[in-house]
Amino acid sequence: MVLERGEVANSWRHERWDSLRLLTPNWQCRLPGYPYNGADPDGFMTMPEVVAHIAGFAAASSAPVRTHTTVTAVGRIDGGYRVATDRGEIRCRSVVLASGAANIPRVPQVREAVPQHIESFTAFDYRNPARLPPGGVLIVGASATGVQLADEIQRSGRPVTLSVGEHVRLPRTYRGRDVLWWMEASGVWSQRYDEIDDLERARRLPSPQLVGTPRHMTLDLNALRTAGVEILGRLGAIRDGRALFSGGLANQLALADLKMNRLLDTFDVWACNNAPHGEVGLAERFEPTQAPASSRLSLDLGNGEIRSIVWATGFRPDYRWLELPVVDRSGQLRHDGGVVVGVPGVYAMGLPVLRRRKSTFILGAEDDARDVVGHLVRYLADGVRTV
Ligand SMILES: Cc1cc2nc3c(=O)[nH]c(=O)nc-3n(C[C@H](O)[C@H](O)[C@H](O)COP(=O)(O)OP(=O)(O)OC[C@H]3O[C@@H](n4cnc5c(N)ncnc54)[C@H](O)[C@@H]3O)c2cc1C
Repeated sequence: MVLERGEVANSWRHERWDSLRLLTPNWQCRLPGYPYNGADPDGFMTMPEVVAHIAGFAAASSAPVRTHTTVTAVGRIDGGYRVATDRGEIRCRSVVLASGAANIPRVPQVREAVPQHIESFTAFDYRNPARLPPGGVLIVGASATGVQLADEIQRSGRPVTLSVGEHVRLPRTYRGRDVLWWMEASGVWSQRYDEIDDLERARRLPSPQLVGTPRHMTLDLNALRTAGVEILGRLGAIRDGRALFSGGLANQLALADLKMNRLLDTFDVWACNNAPHGEVGLAERFEPTQAPASSRLSLDLGNGEIRSIVWATGFRPDYRWLELPVVDRSGQLRHDGGVVVGVPGVYAMGLPVLRRRKSTFILGAEDDARDVVGHLVRYLADGVRTV
């Protein structure tokens, strides 16, 4: 039984901004046994298209979904688990926590010091630029959400200032192929969680600076600067009405360039050994990210320059309903490749690098589900009556 508090594909229906398209190409929207069969495999789905694709999968797989059923508690009982919902209680031997990794926008505490006359938005409140007050916008965070919103808001005529911390730079296309084709073909995306040296770090990595557009445009910081966006360092504090930014911007930019080039080296090595002649173009390298000659280290939030702030600082899961001792102090679920630690029969899906680097993407569900369900089936077959 699949319990869903809203409708099938709820997060895509209600928690995304209007113009969003997937940053993964259509052919990578494959779900278990359900490939993309449309006419534009290299295009990028709009939100209504994503909803239709996932609803199509739910119908084709006859998934036993109970919509409009919110899980309010999961606790242990003799022989299994008690799942309380707003439509009654269910008892079961096994539970898969597939409630998502992005239930709540993660906003730094510094938000509390924002002067009252400045409106704050998160990726969940933001819908389109017309909903923002007129005037300057500070966007905090330069990963996928931050760069996409910076581009859209700057195009609307509002001056945008973008605060940049750690980020992952990627070109949209490399050697004539989508960069995510390279991630999959080279095996980087399939790297298993137990083969990754610093798993904690891999799980915390921000989303890549990518956007899905019909023109397959690259949306990096150089493109944003050319469009007129002002780039500042990481927001550290707000004191006496002034936002204070790190002076380490040039280092952040250089580090992201270095990591991108290392990844491209990996692709080149793979291509040398595996890509048949003519399948991919020639190796290329991209212009380093241009650091501003001198970036401002502070902004006066009281002089009217900034009228709103968009916090594009990531998301976190919400496990407040989980009555099991499986969530650590930072709010993350303790699990070993999706097998939740210390509570036999409880599993997780859809978390960053759950079992592979691609776990956090739609494409990751197929392989992860096979592994997780394999474990679950063995667990149930063991005939263990008490857990
Ligand atoms: C802004 C954004 C853009 C993204 N872009 C891409 C992209 O381009 N390509 C890509 O592959 N991935 C993308 N992702 C990642 C993508 O969202 C995940 O890969 C995918 O949604 C994971 O699916 P899921 O079912 O695990 O989680 P979700 O889609 O979050 O679904 C979890 C479901 O659980 C329900 N739920 C939560 N709590 C409860 C409860 N207590 N009771 C009942 N139901 C509950 C929610 O309503 C929701 O429907 C993006 C994520 C975000 C946030």
